Amino acid sequence: MSKSEQSTMRLQDFFTPRFIITVLFVLLALFWSLSLINVLAAGVIFTVTSFLLLKSKSSTIPGHPDEFVEDQKQFARPGRQRGGIKSVRAKTLHAVPLPILIVSEDHRISFANHAAEELLGEDVVGNDVSFYLRQAQLVEAIRKIFIDSKKFAGVIRFTNSQKRSFDVTISRVSGTGSNDVPTQAMAFFYEVTSMLQTEQMRVDFVANASHELRTPLSSIIGFIETLQGPAKDDLPAQERFLGIMQTETERMVRLIDDLLSLSKIEMSRHEPPESEVNLATMITSIAATAAVVGKERDITFDTNIAADAKRVIADPDQLTQVLINLSVNAAKYADPGTTVFICASKSKGHDKINISIRDEGPGILKEHLARLTERFYRIDDARSRKMGGTGLGLAIVKHILLRHDSLLNVESQVGKGTTFSFMLKASKNFNSE
Ligand code: ADP
Repeated sequence: MSKSEQSTMRLQDFFTPRFIITVLFVLLALFWSLSLINVLAAGVIFTVTSFLLLKSKSSTIPGHPDEFVEDQKQFARPGRQRGGIKSVRAKTLHAVPLPILIVSEDHRISFANHAAEELLGEDVVGNDVSFYLRQAQLVEAIRKIFIDSKKFAGVIRFTNSQKRSFDVTISRVSGTGSNDVPTQAMAFFYEVTSMLQTEQMRVDFVANASHELRTPLSSIIGFIETLQGPAKDDLPAQERFLGIMQTETERMVRLIDDLLSLSKIEMSRHEPPESEVNLATMITSIAATAAVVGKERDITFDTNIAADAKRVIADPDQLTQVLINLSVNAAKYADPGTTVFICASKSKGHDKINISIRDEGPGILKEHLARLTERFYRIDDARSRKMGGTGLGLAIVKHILLRHDSLLNVESQVGKGTTFSFMLKASKNFNSE
């Protein structure tokens, strides 16, 4: 700070409104006691002057040295914020939810806001910045900001050991000297972790969907070539190949239908369903449909809907899809000759209905449970494909349930079977007919 600025500050500190009002009061009292002024005039002068002084003080633009220069000791924890950044409002920077570092010319961190301490550690201040930002590009950018004339050193991606990623902007904080020498560098961290994850998911999804479509397409192309060439006059082979081509085409249609379903469900994600659905009728009809799928392997369906669990609040089409996907999966994966149980009962709290689909199949190993609802995740790829699965059935169930403010619960015991269950809001009008 220059000498002239310092002396201005001292004068401003001295002539505070309280000081001026006190002096005025003493002077008016003196004039009155010497009969130089009457009491009414003294009162009016005192009131008007005090009012104007206080008003001008309260309307001071934030930034007046009195308001602006926050004593760092007040905001920083003792002994940590060495070097000080009195010209920077520490309190404001601490309130910013994104990490901010101020680095001095000797490359030591002179200030870290709370978010930066949370990210890099509580003892960052006073230490060399390269200990904490172990990324050559970033450290180099900070070094350059002190020697280049540029105000910004661009944006650099920083990823820490916990796989959190940030776009870091390095900028110069000019010194207060008259020649405007850069004295500090500011690193501002903007978190991009979730954006990168979403981006990665999109890339993976496109790659997986393309792969899923490519496999049946390649097989169809292969059969077309065979039919045009070696099997040109072979009628039995032609029939067999056309059958396979039909199966592959149907698989592609199912896959595209499932993909369209998923995007439709995601579009309605934030519109909670409001319809009242008769669960009893729906479960009975779906059990009959799934029984047709399980018939070949002698799988039977048993339903048990409690009298007070017959009506729920749901989107009827989406609830049908959830029940079909889970029941058909049970029919596909359960052991031959077993029974699948579909039950609905009222929850203990009385406002939810618990719906479960239990099979007596091979069960699912614990390590697969958390990933079951991922798109295209299959435990046994070959078996799923043989059964005509798209690998999207449980992902669709999960997204529909999210729209219904519900989660899919999976309990499984290897060798005994699996139970998929979820809760839905009970209809206020449910009855026991
Ligand atoms: P798919 O089209 O392959 O059936 P899903 O998303 O419906 O796709 O299921 C994902 C995987 O979860 C299946 O490939 C299968 O391995 C496993 N799975 C689903 N339901 C059951 C079940 N009832 N019993 C055992 N495994 C199951």
